[in-house]
Amino acid sequence: MLMDKISERRRVSLERAKELKSRIEDYLEERKKIPRGLYMQDEFEKAKKKILDVLGGTEEDWNDYKWQLSNRISDVETLSKIINLSDKEREAIEEIGKKYRWAVSPYYASLMDVDDKYDPIRLLAIPIAAEIENECGESDPMAEEYTNPAGSITRRYPDRLIINVTNECAMYCRHCQRRRNIGQKDEHTSTEVIKESIEYIRENKEIRDVLITGGDALTIPDDRLEWILQELKSIPHVEYIRLGSRTPVTLPQRITDDLVNMLKKYHPIYLNTHFNHPKEITEESKKACEKLANAGIPLGNQAVLLNGINNDKYVMRSLNHELLKIRVRPYYIFHAKHVKGTTHFNTSIDDGIEIMEYLRGYTSGMAIPTYIVNAPKGQGKTPILPEYLISRGKDYFMIRTWEGKVIKVENQPTKDIREILY
Ligand SMILES: *Cc1c(COP(=O)(O)O)cnc(C)c1O
Repeated sequence: MLMDKISERRRVSLERAKELKSRIEDYLEERKKIPRGLYMQDEFEKAKKKILDVLGGTEEDWNDYKWQLSNRISDVETLSKIINLSDKEREAIEEIGKKYRWAVSPYYASLMDVDDKYDPIRLLAIPIAAEIENECGESDPMAEEYTNPAGSITRRYPDRLIINVTNECAMYCRHCQRRRNIGQKDEHTSTEVIKESIEYIRENKEIRDVLITGGDALTIPDDRLEWILQELKSIPHVEYIRLGSRTPVTLPQRITDDLVNMLKKYHPIYLNTHFNHPKEITEESKKACEKLANAGIPLGNQAVLLNGINNDKYVMRSLNHELLKIRVRPYYIFHAKHVKGTTHFNTSIDDGIEIMEYLRGYTSGMAIPTYIVNAPKGQGKTPILPEYLISRGKDYFMIRTWEGKVIKVENQPTKDIREILY
């Protein structure tokens, strides 16, 4: 009798396990086609040798971020020694370069596919004709120029704000929303303007969270960054500091022992980075993220949903898994804004909703970021989710589970705790 019950439970559990297995089969099959950087080390190693040859550098140079920065590839001649470009592609790159700057660190260039023009790394880094063919889009859709109360601050929320410390990046993302700030040369924000920004924070006591970004917060020298951290740390109401940097992706050599030893003096420090595709997650970026995590800096990722790169439920799931393997917690997926020169990357919001639909339940909650659509003119980050709440009545909700089962759950009003604890 008892045995029967146990074996019946086991039978039901096995049945359910079989059903669950069937919910992941498609992903495991599709994942085989997705390039993932952690499994491509040999290819990257070969590309590195070739690039060092072209640039006349050594292994030691490669590991030196200053060499990487000063040897960014930004002319078609050099680029065409590294990847195969058609005449048409070369022309487009020349032409667009006059209007929108491009530059790629040798490291990031070593991740590019030599032949495939649809390679995600190439699409993220190398200009294509669509950037100037399509004249729609705004230059400042976030109205950042109207949310700048002092210095180089952007303030859009009650308790936190951004300080912009530079316009420099290790690689100029083709989808950059701050394209208007990139200009034709690298410029760190002046000491005077940074002082003005810090003064604003000092005077506004409700600011408890400060984000240092740019450009890329980690393209400024260690001593300058340290000075900013010291200043912020001396303000009692600043509770913690966040850094925004893509260097773990585009220039992992920047994460040196000296840098992390300096940063950890100013805890609590958080860092958000920007991986968009699992191919970007490599042994070198893993090393950089490990260094930061070992120094006690929690890492988050802010991906941007981009047409042809990651607007795919399998690619995005894989990206989030690869991130957790290198100790980075997925934080946001941003819906791409309508920025002039980048509109070929725009997707529908439906793409984003579909991606979210195939994360929840299918994978760990740890691997699920929030999908954000930015309201126009800097009115704020707005989360978008598939519909899980089907309808509601006076004392119930109809909800839908991740597998699509519609279920009724009770909803009673909250009792006053004083009526319970008397
Ligand atoms: C995105 C952003 C922040 C940070 O937002 P969180 O949701 O707290 O990560 C702060 N200030 C500005 C101006 C921003 O654009």
